[in-house]
Amino acid sequence: MLHDLSPLSLAQSLLRCPSVTPEEGGALAFIESVLKEAGFEVHRPVFSEPGTPDVENLYARYGKGEPYLLFAGHTDVVPPGDVSRWQYDPFSGEIHGGELYGRGAVDMKGGIACMMAGALDFIRHNPDFKGSIGFLITGDEEGPAVNGTVKLLEWAKGRGERFSHCILGEPTNPNQLGDMIKIGRRGSLTGKIVVEGKQGHVAYPHLADNPIPGMMRLLDGLLKEPLDRGTDHFDASNLEVTTVDVGNPAANVIPAEARATFNIRFNDLWTPHSLEAEIERRLREAAGNTVRYALTVEPTNAVAFLTPPNAFVGFIADAIRAETGSQPKLSTTGGTSDARFIVKYCPVVEFGLVGQTMHQIDERVAVADLDRLAVIYRKVLDAYFAA
Ligand SMILES: [Zn+2]
Repeated sequence: MLHDLSPLSLAQSLLRCPSVTPEEGGALAFIESVLKEAGFEVHRPVFSEPGTPDVENLYARYGKGEPYLLFAGHTDVVPPGDVSRWQYDPFSGEIHGGELYGRGAVDMKGGIACMMAGALDFIRHNPDFKGSIGFLITGDEEGPAVNGTVKLLEWAKGRGERFSHCILGEPTNPNQLGDMIKIGRRGSLTGKIVVEGKQGHVAYPHLADNPIPGMMRLLDGLLKEPLDRGTDHFDASNLEVTTVDVGNPAANVIPAEARATFNIRFNDLWTPHSLEAEIERRLREAAGNTVRYALTVEPTNAVAFLTPPNAFVGFIADAIRAETGSQPKLSTTGGTSDARFIVKYCPVVEFGLVGQTMHQIDERVAVADLDRLAVIYRKVLDAYFAA
């Protein structure tokens, strides 16, 4: 059977697959059949890890030479929530008022449909182009993210695959298609502080040691000075204290200990290691000889990275401008994404649909945006393989 390769039809087929993490839901099988029909070599590795569900993934390649442009993304989606609150069934792919509804419409089955439509259109017109186009699609982005992109990249490397550049199709535009390309992401680091005191009666404070003033001094020491002032491409790193806990229900008891948690979203002036050293320095200074405390920093794989605005970023910005008339902002804002794993293998840039309804009830995408994003990807391929 020959598939309808319009971005809308591909997106509808994907939305009808109930692929809530970690379920494959038929989504990867659909992509496999479409890509095979177009001449791709397709693999479907399944990865496991004790304590996490097995996850299916997909890797596909067309062509043998270089340069090798990789499209990356995920077919898994977050749960729909209360289905009765959706205007239309979240897994039916219905169109109303020029918009396609469904869980994953923008995050990111719609984006994958556009990548496929753009790539297949390019290949149809340039079957013997010099280079390769690939797809690296995981079913484990919205979940624990253990059996997905990280292992898929290692697996591909083990097969000798070498990527030149990657486009990750996450929804990067805040309001309109063409608003924003992400050329990097901040890192994330979480730490916990425990200040030790001695429990006692409030009327006999000399027999006790209240940990709360000590915690206040430590937190003040952490927050007093900004971590940095930002860079050309990044906002200033930000430390947020997310909770302070004593858990003391009694007004006449001095508590035994105080706990606090903080999270830092940091730019590429820092590594998790250098940041941890700075936190330790600030706490040591604030504590002096009087505050007894312990710091634990959680291991993180969310390291800040930047893909410098080079020719590759230029191809994408040019294609966006040609199709939408907008000059996209080159941004490093937002949370972490799988780009932090991909960047260890090749430069990666993120551009996809408009993110406004992602993870929401009535997630939806303008049908016109699907068509335009597919054209943008096609134009990127034209420029990339002509260069
Ligand atoms: Zn996503």
